[in-house]
Amino acid sequence: MIRSVSNRYINSNKQFELAKKSIPGGVNSPVRAFKSVGGIPVFMQKGNGANIYDIDGNEYIDYVNSWGPMILGYNHPKVIEAMNDQVIKATTFGTPTEIETELANLIKLIVPSIDLIRFVSSGTEACMTALRLARGYTKRNKFIKFSGCYHGHADPFLVQAGSGLATLGIQNTPGVPSSVTQDTLIANFNDISSVEKLFYQNPDEIAAVIIEPIAGNMGCVPPNDGFLEKLREICTTQGTVLIFDEVMTGFRISPGGVQQHLEIEADLVTYGKVIGGGLPVGAFAGKKEIMSHIAPLGNVYQAGTLSGNPLAIRAGLATLSYLNDNRFIYDSLEAKGGYLKLEIGKILTEKGLANTINQVGSMISVAFHDEKISSFSDISNSNILLFNEFFHYLLDNGVYLPPSVYESWFLSNALEDFHLDKTLSVIKGFKS
Ligand code: PMP
Repeated sequence: MIRSVSNRYINSNKQFELAKKSIPGGVNSPVRAFKSVGGIPVFMQKGNGANIYDIDGNEYIDYVNSWGPMILGYNHPKVIEAMNDQVIKATTFGTPTEIETELANLIKLIVPSIDLIRFVSSGTEACMTALRLARGYTKRNKFIKFSGCYHGHADPFLVQAGSGLATLGIQNTPGVPSSVTQDTLIANFNDISSVEKLFYQNPDEIAAVIIEPIAGNMGCVPPNDGFLEKLREICTTQGTVLIFDEVMTGFRISPGGVQQHLEIEADLVTYGKVIGGGLPVGAFAGKKEIMSHIAPLGNVYQAGTLSGNPLAIRAGLATLSYLNDNRFIYDSLEAKGGYLKLEIGKILTEKGLANTINQVGSMISVAFHDEKISSFSDISNSNILLFNEFFHYLLDNGVYLPPSVYESWFLSNALEDFHLDKTLSVIKGFKS
């Protein structure tokens, strides 16, 4: 659906036209282009607490939070203070710094199963390297990923890869040779028999199973009871490395992510988003036995000019320290998420709109569907056109949701009760 541009977005519209002349599609990451929901992307200029402001001066309650990193909200004083302090010292040296060890030690304190952690600059890099490490460690090539899970845009992962591609209707992307994806095996989320079948068909060949343990790239989809436990058991029996991609869930679902929340230990874990407090940081981590295969300790190569960048590490350190010192934040986020789920569900049901709302802590997603959503095909069968209308109604009324049904919403701790109630009163006015 192409929407007409009202005066409300006049500057965004102009800027989008300008941007398209120099930047492919006018954006530097495809989901920002609003292709799935239609219309013109809104250009933002500042944020404060739970709000963001566009270049036309419109205010929004933000449920995207930069796709996860801004868990403390915008302009958090502790994060700003740390960055200001660092920026005048230096933003990068390309040498080791004390603060990298400080952040590594804080993370080891929060996630005790980690022996060693390597910082990189994005979730993509973290997942790409975790897979390489698992392959180097096991001396096997094949790996299993789940339909609808996204692990960044490294070539081997770009098969049935959830939100970003689904939003654009791309199944498999040109430019990735089939020789690179021939070792990518696809199982169905929440369907352990699909995993068992692949292990049966590929004995002693599977290096890794990588999974978003609570998925966020097909909306928010929690694992069914026993699913991850069984996956853990199979990987242990088969000598396969279990990788939890906690780029979205790490330091968000609980201090120690899904590993802690569900008490299941992966062999390797990847991080992004919250770990950098709004600056580009990713990481992969795990037990010494596996991590010691990474260069320069071992032969599995990985490197990065700006890895462990001091400015980004300071933002991450300030964010994680604050979260760690104020763990009640996680209960508070859970309460806010639970309240939204309950109240949005009530409002939509009263309107006669079938809805399924999945929520775990500060991750939540609303789909217009009358059945449980526990896999990629479930969310694909929901009423996406209605979601798109819902998205635009909320946008026009100052509530900023992710511009795709396939994306999870992320709550920040800056959301106060009045933000939540304002959001609900906007939803009450939605007419399909
Ligand atoms: N893994 C997951 C689960 C993600 O959601 C994302 C990004 N949304 C990535 C990996 C890739 O992270 P980045 O965009 O930082 O490369």
